[in-house]
Amino acid sequence: MESINMQKQFPILNQKIHGYPLVYLDNAASTQKPLQVIESLQQYYEQDNANVHRGVHTLSSRATDAYEGARKKVANFLNAETEKEVIFTRGTTSSINLVASSYARAVCNEGDEIVISAMEHHSNLLPWQQVAKATKAKLKHIPLQNDGTFSIGDAEKAITSHTKIVAVSHVSNVLGIANPVKQMAAIAHKHGAVIMVDGAQSVPHIKVDVQDLGCDFYAFSGHKMCGPTGIGVLYGKKQLLEKMEPIEFGGEMIDHVDLHDASWKELPWKFEGGTPIIAGAIGLGTAIDFLEGIGLDTIEKHDKQLTSYAVERMKQIEDVTMYGPDDGRFGLVTFNLGKVHPHDLATVLDTYGIAIRAGHHCCQPLMRHFEASATARASFYLYNTEEDIERFILALEKTKEFFKK
Ligand code: PMP
Repeated sequence: MESINMQKQFPILNQKIHGYPLVYLDNAASTQKPLQVIESLQQYYEQDNANVHRGVHTLSSRATDAYEGARKKVANFLNAETEKEVIFTRGTTSSINLVASSYARAVCNEGDEIVISAMEHHSNLLPWQQVAKATKAKLKHIPLQNDGTFSIGDAEKAITSHTKIVAVSHVSNVLGIANPVKQMAAIAHKHGAVIMVDGAQSVPHIKVDVQDLGCDFYAFSGHKMCGPTGIGVLYGKKQLLEKMEPIEFGGEMIDHVDLHDASWKELPWKFEGGTPIIAGAIGLGTAIDFLEGIGLDTIEKHDKQLTSYAVERMKQIEDVTMYGPDDGRFGLVTFNLGKVHPHDLATVLDTYGIAIRAGHHCCQPLMRHFEASATARASFYLYNTEEDIERFILALEKTKEFFKK
């Protein structure tokens, strides 16, 4: 990590907010982009921009190579068996909706069960609510313990021979801890169910091997891992994707069309109707190069250490309540400061140049579990330093004093 000049690689960090150097601690919402990614987008638009797949001219073939090359990078990054298992989408939300609308609606019937945890982000809750309503399948929630986590025993109890789909986040965007997805995949498979993993908060911080995890579907977003907005991935096992119907119909995804019917292209293109997210995919490929250049192991170690450091420092401030288990946070901490409303806290921290998030973090049921209407969240990434944490702690202390008056 030390080998990279973060100020140089991330020009956005090199600015003052309200007269203070920016400390960006809102990485779980979206990360900043390194020059390498910004330049790859610029190069694409300056030199290679064209539509993909159908063109025979040079720019189109360059754009196609770059787009399909990015797919190969994603397949290697996740250790997918083949790049046919990599579908480009708009992000985690679109990926989960694709599985819900295509796979789940086709396999679920009355009496079947969809099992999710009660800590899920709305993106991994609402699509399943809709499937349950449409198919009369039952939506079951693995109950939470006091600290917001669930036990593998409770997961095992919830998953039964009626279960068709298990959907769970790999790393929670509120608790910051990892769920036992590998064990859950084994349990799901024992009952003939499939597992969909929401990897929005895991892929940026840890090496994910979809074959080792044994997951059937895995979703993540480019913008949370140094890539552009508007691009994400759905990984799916080939034999499942092959059986699934597209949910978007139009150009690019067809094989043969007549006036009354049509047939689809092979994987992965049958799921990518219309002009795809070409620049986004190329930018994501470069983000993967960037992260792999540092090493996912190095990133994981850095993010975990920095989070533990922040937690230890925050414990020294009276009135700070942290949510979730004490150990095992991958890159974020969710908290409140006495009775200060988290929005007020985030607003005051902004006046010191510190960016954090406040709200329900798209996890209203988990907030209710904690009997909190909202919380603040500081989230860290590879460019954050202990100095950033010290600035954050100092600002928290000042905020506390300010609201005491
Ligand atoms: N799941 C989790 C755990 C997340 O943190 C997020 C982003 N906040 C999402 C899903 C949705 O990601 P996106 O908005 O990029 O689709």
